[in-house]
Amino acid sequence: MAERAALTQQPPAPAGKAVVMTKSDLLSFRQCPRKLWLELHRPDLLPEPDSTSDRRAIDGIKVGEKARSVLGPDLLWPPGESDLAEAATRARQMLFAAPDTPAVEVPMLRDRLYARADALVPVSGGYVLRETKASTFPLKKDKITPDAPEPHHLDDVAIQAWVMETSGFNCVRVELNLLDSQWRYPGNDDYGGLFRQMDVTGLLTERQVQVPVWAAAARDVIAGPMPHVLTGRQCQEPYACPFVCFCKMGEPPEPEHPIELLPDSGGKALARRLKESKGYTSILQPAEEELGGKAAALYRRMQAAHRDGRAILEPGAREVLQRFGYPRYFLDFEGIDLPVPRWVGVRPYEHVPFQWSCHVEREPGVFGHAEFLDLSGADPSLPCIDRLRRVIDPEDGGPIFVYHATYERGRLMQLAERHPEHAQVLQRYVERLVDLLPLVKENFYDPRMRGSFSIKKVLPAVADDLRYDELDEVQEGMGAQVAYLKAIFARPGRERMADLDRKLRRYCRQDTWAMVEIAHFLAQDRRPTRPREEPTLPE
Ligand code: SF4
Repeated sequence: MAERAALTQQPPAPAGKAVVMTKSDLLSFRQCPRKLWLELHRPDLLPEPDSTSDRRAIDGIKVGEKARSVLGPDLLWPPGESDLAEAATRARQMLFAAPDTPAVEVPMLRDRLYARADALVPVSGGYVLRETKASTFPLKKDKITPDAPEPHHLDDVAIQAWVMETSGFNCVRVELNLLDSQWRYPGNDDYGGLFRQMDVTGLLTERQVQVPVWAAAARDVIAGPMPHVLTGRQCQEPYACPFVCFCKMGEPPEPEHPIELLPDSGGKALARRLKESKGYTSILQPAEEELGGKAAALYRRMQAAHRDGRAILEPGAREVLQRFGYPRYFLDFEGIDLPVPRWVGVRPYEHVPFQWSCHVEREPGVFGHAEFLDLSGADPSLPCIDRLRRVIDPEDGGPIFVYHATYERGRLMQLAERHPEHAQVLQRYVERLVDLLPLVKENFYDPRMRGSFSIKKVLPAVADDLRYDELDEVQEGMGAQVAYLKAIFARPGRERMADLDRKLRRYCRQDTWAMVEIAHFLAQDRRPTRPREEPTLPE
């Protein structure tokens, strides 16, 4: 997008054939020709950036900064220019004048195709083209053997390598500079092991030959009318396309109860099979025996609910919930997975909890609330454990309800690994976890959930006065992460910090209260009365 911003200062091209294209344009074309056309001709259709794009941007900046710092203090950094040809010429002059110095963000232009090399590292006979990605080094299941790189990463470096070589630089090797997920930050600002390079030179030959072919085809697209492309898998891969709503508006309406509502990978695979073999497009079409497999009961409940337009609650959940005693804890963690770890012992993208909320039902219908939030930017792990131990009695054996236990279990076990002095207590918490998600899946469905069992979809079906979209800046996990990153990196003034603090607490409380509502609903108990918003258990 920075490349595009630079291009907007160019005089308008007289015709599509003369347009200077950026690497980003060509990568959009590779994802979908229509996406490229819309980006250039209808940028007004682009939605406001959401929390996912905010997060990706922050990660990209932090990883880029670290990749440059690992290259050493002496770097060439050619200035950006509004005239791309001039920028590329100046960069070449700088590099030729100092051939032994690594260069970063190097503008290159060839045949009206513009790319900026992340890093050119001088070696004997030329340069290593090193492209940094905020992705982890791909490994096979054994966590040792390298796996294949992402095809869109290869497209990316193939474009750069083609521009580089055809504009007179000798490209000795091409590397993807990726985060080593097996490395742990040792502290003292030692990031020497953060990156692991993958040599992809041998994988680029065919792609590089294709680059001018792609560029010519993309220019034709830019110069022509909007291409007709139906939505499909390309709308999500490799990146979610922001034009989906616009493109779907031009397509025939989906059936009211599409077969794709069948959930999870098993449901999606079954939907695909039934669509291809029988032509079914609606969840109402399959006969009962065609909705088979391990989740058959769920699929059939979903079909009945959509057919009859009503929610279905099985009695089994009540029996399961009645087995649990009191106190009951309803716990939710919010964690941050930094690509560049800042706390000792943490790996790239390892989730570290910075916040939790816990509603405690001391006896039926009697609630308290406690919470933890650390926006200091320091390692929140030990304060998090300390507060947890003061709120969840390690000895009382009360069930700890969570929604999608994989996440909370993972955080507790990672905390135990990093802080073995608390491992025993944390392990006991793990053993007390009760996951509400499978209980919902096995016993409940409301057509308003539209095939989703996320807590955000289930809550309005059980308590329609509670909605996540009524929260403001922080409405989902990614929004919470972005708010946290804004607090620790930007360190805004006191007022804004208090604002972020309030929004994060409100969101996390909503999650645990949602669990309370769902548990009472499944047990067919009276609707619970929410305690005061402020923590009601001692700090
Ligand atoms: S939504 Fe899909 S079809 Fe439409 S432009 Fe994006 S990728 Fe292409």
